[in-house]
Amino acid sequence: MRQTRQRQLILEHLKRTANHPSATEIYDLVRQDLPSISLATVYRNLESLCSLGLAKKVETFGGQKRFDAIVADHMHAICTKCGKVRDIETEPEFKPEKLRSIDSDFEITGVRIDLLGICPECMRLQNQNKEEK
Ligand SMILES: [Zn+2]
Ligand SMILES: [Zn+2]
Repeated sequence: MRQTRQRQLILEHLKRTANHPSATEIYDLVRQDLPSISLATVYRNLESLCSLGLAKKVETFGGQKRFDAIVADHMHAICTKCGKVRDIETEPEFKPEKLRSIDSDFEITGVRIDLLGICPECMRLQNQNKEEK
């Protein structure tokens, strides 16, 4: 198997998964097509997809790296319980890059806004636990 084919396959899986999977989650998906692939190979390919600008790393809690096939600036909502990341839709008129710093000299080159919260799955679990008590 050629390296570019592996990378292509990994990118396809990343694009199909909306919840910003970790390397391990991608590995589990890719393994269904390529049973012999190793986690290290998946990891290396994810890194090279990022350096090629075809994917992006997402900062989360707990140090687990997650990956995103959407490379354009967009906002994320991060669950503070499980670390899952969702994309947030913003109005087209909302242009954070048009914001100006108070002391005006700061050149804004990109936007990274993370919204923090609790995802529906964790909320459900939390409510269940409450009911049991
Ligand atoms: Zn969660
Ligand atoms: Zn995203």
